[in-house]
Amino acid sequence: MQVIDNGQCLICGGEMKFFLTGKDYLYRTSKKDFKIYKCTICGLERITPMPSSVELKNAYPEKYYSLNMVNNMGLLSKIKKSSIQINYACKNLAVKKLVAGAMNIFYYFGLPENFKEGSRALDIGCGDGYDVQLMRHCNWEAYGFEVGARGSLENVFYDSSLDLVDFGGMQFDLVRMWHSFEHMKDPRACLVVINSLMKENGFLVMAVPNTRSVAAWFFGKYYLGRDIPRHLFGYNDKNIVTLLAKNNFKVIKIRYQSLNGIAASISNLINEKFKTKLDWQGNFIWIALWLPLEYFISFARLSDQMSIVVTKELSE
Ligand SMILES: [Zn+2]
Repeated sequence: MQVIDNGQCLICGGEMKFFLTGKDYLYRTSKKDFKIYKCTICGLERITPMPSSVELKNAYPEKYYSLNMVNNMGLLSKIKKSSIQINYACKNLAVKKLVAGAMNIFYYFGLPENFKEGSRALDIGCGDGYDVQLMRHCNWEAYGFEVGARGSLENVFYDSSLDLVDFGGMQFDLVRMWHSFEHMKDPRACLVVINSLMKENGFLVMAVPNTRSVAAWFFGKYYLGRDIPRHLFGYNDKNIVTLLAKNNFKVIKIRYQSLNGIAASISNLINEKFKTKLDWQGNFIWIALWLPLEYFISFARLSDQMSIVVTKELSE
């Protein structure tokens, strides 16, 4: 995917102006400073210039979270796995709704509550394939895509870019981008590919950080959702709707959710200021401490993350 650095916002055409400088505070893969530019009209954020392919490759260490989901099953992953399995296995609609409701209060995982036997799903940016395996276990016909050389999982497609993958003409009931869209070098090209992969009545479910959030405003360059230099773009709940609409999608629901944004952003800040190596991101007690505040902020629609359910806009 080719990226054009022309100083214009790719969503609204507005002027991109320098916003902040920051570096990799989360995994400390390099000491290099990266600049983020921000659209003066719609607020789209973008790393400028784009990190090189080598810089991006080096920015994903072996311990990167999505590559270690299967082996590092934390408490949250275990709760997630059980609740999804119970929900999909349950035949009683009332109980199903109850389980789904409880799941959503706790945390929405981006897997639809209702599942029809044999539905086909594609998890883009599937990491080590944890959710692909989970869906297959629940009788989905699930596939994944991940950037990189061929891995060992047979249901996962690997390549340097999504548009290069040959899906053999398959179309999907569900395309899922769970915290992967903000890593895409060319969001518009990515949406064109996704649109072509979705069945007419299919769904796209995505989760992205929200730059119109309390955490983004308060923590600035330390905000977990900016995750320099891995997050190439930063979206908010308005400009992403515009971007999707311009690419023939219709947003049917936005969920405002926070989980570990504040806990991890504080850890980023302290580690940088005091040269410590605290790993609070995976500490459930530390995360739980901030949950009441996170819930309150999510209720006010200023959460550090958002999940979006999208359908195809069909031409008449
Ligand atoms: Zn803009």
